[in-house]
Amino acid sequence: MLENRYRVYSQYLKDKYGEKVYKIPIQLSVTCPNRDGLLGNRGCIFCGEKGAGFENLESSIPVKDQLKQNIEYISKRYKAKKFIAYFQNFTNTYIPLDEFKKYIMDVCREDIVEIAISTRPDCIKDEYLSFLNEIKKEKNINITIELGLQSVNYKTLEKIERGHTLAEFIDAMWMIKKYDFEVCVHMILNLPWDTEADIIEGAKILSALRVNQVKLHSLYIVGDSVMGNMYENNEFKIIPLDEYVDRVVSFLEYLNPTIALQRLVGRAPKEETLFCNWNTSWWKIKDYIDEKMEKEDSYQGKKFNYLGGKALK
Ligand code: SF4
Repeated sequence: MLENRYRVYSQYLKDKYGEKVYKIPIQLSVTCPNRDGLLGNRGCIFCGEKGAGFENLESSIPVKDQLKQNIEYISKRYKAKKFIAYFQNFTNTYIPLDEFKKYIMDVCREDIVEIAISTRPDCIKDEYLSFLNEIKKEKNINITIELGLQSVNYKTLEKIERGHTLAEFIDAMWMIKKYDFEVCVHMILNLPWDTEADIIEGAKILSALRVNQVKLHSLYIVGDSVMGNMYENNEFKIIPLDEYVDRVVSFLEYLNPTIALQRLVGRAPKEETLFCNWNTSWWKIKDYIDEKMEKEDSYQGKKFNYLGGKALK
């Protein structure tokens, strides 16, 4: 029996830093080019007014204080000593460079070992990256860029009104990989327009582009999103739970085994969603995934044999 059938993020951090490391969410008062009118006004069709940061402190609280409050709470509760400052919500590089630099400087403390910045593939620019590289060298703080991609199918990206295609993602990867940074990519495995073949292709593309971490989400539908309206009008169908479990397992089998999995199932506050995880708790779904992998002797990378000149092997 295999102990871990996929590379769990918490263990990945433990291996990297020699002890448990906790991610501290920070909320900036930022928006997104897909919401403020530059690319679109209503955002990706699944995105609600709060973005992804429903568990965060208010963005009106200064960054240093958000960090302090959260670190005090986590270190008391888990006796933690090392942390990752995680700029989580909306598009954190969609601000002027000076402002960005100030926020980054605000989180540079002794106990911060890494800074993770969530953004869109079309909001990656070399000036921001080269500043982060200076921070990495001067302060000895690792950098991870978290890119929302959600699907590798450019037709699905169009349907969800993402405002970019796969090409911008590939371009962002080239830019980021010039530096010694890690990249985490967010994917939704049950977008209504994606098939299992898209999911497998997603695992292959992320592996081929040398992504380091992946965060998988199950689609949840928030009331204040475009998709919320579509859901109420029965304009699409959501695949059943067992199919989601199958998709996660297929994705993992094709994924490079060195890639760490931050998450396999999305989480959202029940009260604010029209649909979330088939009314099943996320940890139960994770158990279903584990059980299926165990039963089928499946593991991450089982089918990872397609790179490096496969036809010549
Ligand atoms: S890119 Fe992110 S923040 Fe912007 S609309 Fe889409 S999901 Fe929301």
